[in-house]
Amino acid sequence: MNAPVRSLSDPVRFVKGVGPAREALLARLGIRSAGDLLFLFPARYEDRRNLAPLSSLRGGETVSVAARVAAFERRKTARKGLSVITALISDGMTMARAVWFNRVGLEKVLLPGVRVLFFGRVDVRGGAVQLTNPDFEILDEDGDEEKSLAIVPVYPTTAGLSQKALRRMTGSALEDFLPSLGEFLPDDLRSRLRLPGVAESVRQLHYPESREKWKAARNRLAFDEFFLLQTGLAVRRSLAGDTASPAPSLPPGRLVAECLENRLPFTLTDGQKKAVEDIFADMARVVPMNRLLQGDVGSGKTVVALLGLLAAMDGGCQGAFLAPTEILARQHYLRLAPMIEALGGRCALLTGSLPAREKAEIQKGLESGEISVAIGTHALLSEKTAFARMGIAIVDEQHRFGVLQKHAFRSKGESPHVLVMTATPIPRTLTLTVYGDLAVSVINELPPGRKPVETRAVPPKKIPGLLSFLGERMKAGERVYWICPLIEESETLDLAAAEARFAELRERFSPLGAGLLHGRLPNGEKENVMDGFQRGDISLLVSTTVVEVGVDVPEATIMVVEDAVRFGLSQLHQLRGRVGRGTGESWCFLICSPSSQEARERIGAFCATSDGFAIAEADLRLRGPGEVCGVRQSGVTDFRVADLIRDRDILETARREAFSLVAKDPGLLSCPELKDRLYTTLGRSLNLVETA
Ligand code: ADP
Ligand code: MG
Repeated sequence: MNAPVRSLSDPVRFVKGVGPAREALLARLGIRSAGDLLFLFPARYEDRRNLAPLSSLRGGETVSVAARVAAFERRKTARKGLSVITALISDGMTMARAVWFNRVGLEKVLLPGVRVLFFGRVDVRGGAVQLTNPDFEILDEDGDEEKSLAIVPVYPTTAGLSQKALRRMTGSALEDFLPSLGEFLPDDLRSRLRLPGVAESVRQLHYPESREKWKAARNRLAFDEFFLLQTGLAVRRSLAGDTASPAPSLPPGRLVAECLENRLPFTLTDGQKKAVEDIFADMARVVPMNRLLQGDVGSGKTVVALLGLLAAMDGGCQGAFLAPTEILARQHYLRLAPMIEALGGRCALLTGSLPAREKAEIQKGLESGEISVAIGTHALLSEKTAFARMGIAIVDEQHRFGVLQKHAFRSKGESPHVLVMTATPIPRTLTLTVYGDLAVSVINELPPGRKPVETRAVPPKKIPGLLSFLGERMKAGERVYWICPLIEESETLDLAAAEARFAELRERFSPLGAGLLHGRLPNGEKENVMDGFQRGDISLLVSTTVVEVGVDVPEATIMVVEDAVRFGLSQLHQLRGRVGRGTGESWCFLICSPSSQEARERIGAFCATSDGFAIAEADLRLRGPGEVCGVRQSGVTDFRVADLIRDRDILETARREAFSLVAKDPGLLSCPELKDRLYTTLGRSLNLVETA
């Protein structure tokens, strides 16, 4: 009989030992194909290489022992529902007990007389040693425990899927499917960089033979992940280079000059000037601009965006400015529209909550070209929104949008210049990884006169003191944000918590105005509250995180965040960035009863620094890249092996190799296996279209 033809893309149920129930459990781990299972790598390993005699066991250690089952007993305890299973075991010299709780089916395998290899923790109970909840494996009678005495993989798993089951499944995947994993790196590259073979590396990651072999295998697989992505980016760029239509050349003209000379209430900082120069230089060319503007919260990115919009208008084109929340879109509109209109342009605000008729009217104006600038939210991405001649597309707070949304936005124009803005500094490893060829401008200073925000952790027992402080500052005319805890699972609970807090605080500070802001307020109401806070009729704004990004009320000097440990560091940094925008002193209070040592350290470190870059790096470590740069769910940064921070060198090498390969051979004709692997793994997420 011929062996069946197997492919890594076979559904995972083709792997021996995977039935419908396990197939569903594996799907929860994101494993759908046999190849996925091969690439499910251990989170850690257990070293079972040293067999200990039972007589040598000491409490607290983790050991492997080979022993025979002498007796077996299942017992219900007084506590309802708890059953204790005890096996008396012996290695011929010494007796000991192995104990499990609430395990079913053990009696069928742990028959008296059977030889078993146990692995687990040793406890001392009533003077006798016992193994608590040990893993075990039935040994052959001939006493061949050698092969079980290995470094054993411990996989990331999900409820209902035991390590034992996983080991068996990955084991059969290794046996039956690993041979179908062919080498795809070009030979010369592999020998130059001294990388072990791919199949061998996968095997080493599951069952390492030594630390050195494991490390070489891991680095090889990390290299693969970066290299495939970089090759994909390089191919995409070379395809785009062939087909992209030229962008309109839009050098700055009269409107830009007029704005810079007469309309701005301040002079640009050097950082802003440099960013504007970069952007103007890009926009003057017919290669579409693809630039990231990075500037910490409060560094003044909006005015840079304005100048980009005006340059587009100078060249007879339209501009579009996308923001993640209605509050922010409206704020940009209120700021920028008067300047744009004073210079003779027409500016419109396009958001989801507009009445259908108004929306349609604005869309008509954009399509005809009558409206020169559109500022808005996701409504800008709607199919019904089209532009006559989009010259520049600007995305504010870019990490809040997915890659596909950004793609939809730029495709509203024929070949517009694109500027994405962010306050979350994106480490270079990440920009390289995700964007490949994005140019970056950095505004590395704040406007003059800003003082750092005093940041303090406040334990709950000190809240009364905090409240009196808030009262004093508000009486002196300052404004306060109070952010309510974030309860992700339930918006309703979230809301209830915010409403209760609002009622309490309003009463406490009763003669002063207080307002409540959250995403579910009816249309018009959100605007009223925001305007009231802007004008100062409202001194205390109780809010959910809808004010997290972008909101700019320079008179606000105090930010209070409840239950601060629930927020990511970048999020806290954004919230803190809502204050300290004027020249006065300002504060950020993080209310928290840090439950764990780790949380305490995290908050402590945050209080001590205002460096957004350091915070973003820390966040990247803690939460992964998807959150930090807005590619969540896109599959692009879901590395199984590679680590964006630790593997910086590998990334640089992979990028260099990938780009030089594609420069020589854009169609990857010399390495069909690589091409094949690239398209099966990343073709869809990178939007690579197979060309003939
Ligand atoms: P962000 O970079 O966080 O988007 P904004 O564009 O909202 O920052 O600007 C923050 C505040 O700083 C605004 O009130 C803005 O008017 C002000 N601002 C911007 N640039 C300057 C400058 N060069 N000098 C003084 N104030 C400025
Ligand atoms: Mg902003």
